[in-house]
Amino acid sequence: MLKLPVYLDYNATTPCDPQVVDVMLPYFTQHFGNAASRSHAPGLYAEAAVALAREQVAALIGAETQEVYFTSGATEANNLALKGAFETYASRGGHIITAATEHKAVLDTCAHLEKMGAAITYLPVNKDGMISLEELEAAITPQTILISLMYANNETGVIHPVKAISAIARKHNIIFMSDATQAVGKIPVNVNTDGIDILTCSAHKLYGPKGIGAIYLRRKSPRVKIAAQMDGGGHERGVRSGTLNVPAIAGFGKACELAAELMDKEAERLATLRNRLQTALLEIPGTFVNGSLQHRLPHVVNLSFEGVEGEALMMAANKSLALSSGSACTSASREPSYVLKAMGVPDELAMGSIRFSLGRFTTEEEITYAITAVTGAVKQLRALDPFAPNYTI
Ligand SMILES: *Cc1c(COP(=O)(O)O)cnc(C)c1O
Repeated sequence: MLKLPVYLDYNATTPCDPQVVDVMLPYFTQHFGNAASRSHAPGLYAEAAVALAREQVAALIGAETQEVYFTSGATEANNLALKGAFETYASRGGHIITAATEHKAVLDTCAHLEKMGAAITYLPVNKDGMISLEELEAAITPQTILISLMYANNETGVIHPVKAISAIARKHNIIFMSDATQAVGKIPVNVNTDGIDILTCSAHKLYGPKGIGAIYLRRKSPRVKIAAQMDGGGHERGVRSGTLNVPAIAGFGKACELAAELMDKEAERLATLRNRLQTALLEIPGTFVNGSLQHRLPHVVNLSFEGVEGEALMMAANKSLALSSGSACTSASREPSYVLKAMGVPDELAMGSIRFSLGRFTTEEEITYAITAVTGAVKQLRALDPFAPNYTI
């Protein structure tokens, strides 16, 4: 028997891998030491766990251990990166380039910096969700201090041309930051071959615990310096003060180790399942894929169903499927997703969008179930709408 609801919202969060939990548990009780207490064994034991985790996180992204700093997650890491870089480099110019489809943790931080005097360029995207490299280069001014473009989009799975972006950033001596939260652990990410100077990620998107993440800061050519946003005991070599969450960090490390091990096979397995789901759902008339088919994470598909509200579809399938609709509830009004809007998806279709994101525990059987449930729900909702065109299903 299937366990319901079938969870297809792995881009929102992932369950902890049981192996991750096993690694974490002793650090709550038996090995509870403060990693900053170097004067006794319990502290040193905790410090060793943090050191191992730092190696595991660094290894997954091709970084040096001294370049990885733990934060409470990607939201904090993005805030730290953007605010910290602005504070450090504002004297050289206060211009930052980003894109309209970035995560809110980047966009809202940029909006905050605008109030502090920063000039922000929000690059547009095409219907596939891709930026134009020509537009990126044309946006660069002598005041540009940072280019912040995500690795892969959380709503559509669209992957930015990171290597080409970093080449442009390098050519103009501009720091390149990438929110790689959806990419790390899913597809190969390497700060050196990708040319990333600041990278942010989060454990709970790759089968680790919630409330822990990391920021990578390049140490050499260029040496990236960002002003700390949290003052205190000088933990994480002054980049992020606050007693380290040792159990979460140990779990994050294990999650990275597992991801490195499983990545290739999982990407292939999930792409096959995703493609099966996509092909079957595209059989429903008036169904469209949002985002590039070519430059996309293997486990994600964002679909719009004409004449059906994403929210209603989720309600209809509520007990059977855990999904995410593209629309965000902002107070009373339902707004279409700003990501899809930026891609030029008409409001009506953007309101009818659903993100399917598969993961480590997704099975063939679950996909079969999802296909039947979604097809049924779309049919049912269209039948209820007296103004619906004839979709012939
Ligand atoms: C989930 C996510 C974040 C936020 O990460 P938290 O660790 O939950 O704060 C930031 N950026 C992207 C692209 C994400 O998917």
